[in-house]
Amino acid sequence: MTPCALTIAGSDSGGGAGIQADLKTFAAHGVHGLSAIAALTAQHTRGVTAVEVPTVSFLRAQIDACFDDFRIGAVKLGMLATTDVIHAVAEALEQHRPPHVVLDPVMVATSGARLLDPSALDALRNRLLPLATLVTPNLPEAELLLGTRIDSRVAMRAACNALLDAGARAVLLKGGHLYDGGDIVDLYADASGTVEFQHPRLQLEAHGTGCTLASAVAANLCRGLPLASACRAAGEYVHAALLRGYRPGRSEIVVLDHF
Ligand code: PLP
Repeated sequence: MTPCALTIAGSDSGGGAGIQADLKTFAAHGVHGLSAIAALTAQHTRGVTAVEVPTVSFLRAQIDACFDDFRIGAVKLGMLATTDVIHAVAEALEQHRPPHVVLDPVMVATSGARLLDPSALDALRNRLLPLATLVTPNLPEAELLLGTRIDSRVAMRAACNALLDAGARAVLLKGGHLYDGGDIVDLYADASGTVEFQHPRLQLEAHGTGCTLASAVAANLCRGLPLASACRAAGEYVHAALLRGYRPGRSEIVVLDHF
């Protein structure tokens, strides 16, 4: 039976991030992709021009429709936009109890556009972290979640422990924002310890890498990989998709080639 993964996230009209990246990633992993659209963005490679949030009752209807028919192996959470949306998603997850929840705590796009209302940070931390099998923040997101500076490898380890204490079962802390002249080092942590994943830093401006990484982890979990292996394979997938990336718009922004 083909495994199914559900993304609850925002739509990117430019096709490089959000729901569109998630569904392409699921397909590339041989997983049937389901989607519940939590926010709509009007967007191209240069930025976000408008955002619209559907009613929470309609979001809930999308989520319930998916759970009522498909055997869902993992849920990926992306752009959730507001406190009300976060509460609605948390309630749905508590009711349907999927085996895995991968939380990408999307806050601000690379272009600078806000994708989460700043007042929704508490709800993200208190309602969703405890439901997450894995949370996948980049350093600025982890800093906002924890209210601390993360400017070294040592600080990254402390941040992972703080996110585990806050209720996440595991953390994949993405180190791309830490520039120390070397490779990018992502840190994976769960109750049994930490693992480092290292990738060469590519000299390009990319769009949709965070969405793709989290949905690749969700797809790998659907296919039965253990969590740390699912994260390692997802990082390798993103790196390979970036190497084959292309520029579909008028800017220099590269989107990933899903294969
Ligand atoms: N648009 C949507 C709907 C997203 O979910 C995200 C990231 O999660 C982005 C845009 C931003 O992507 P990036 O920061 O990679 O440009």
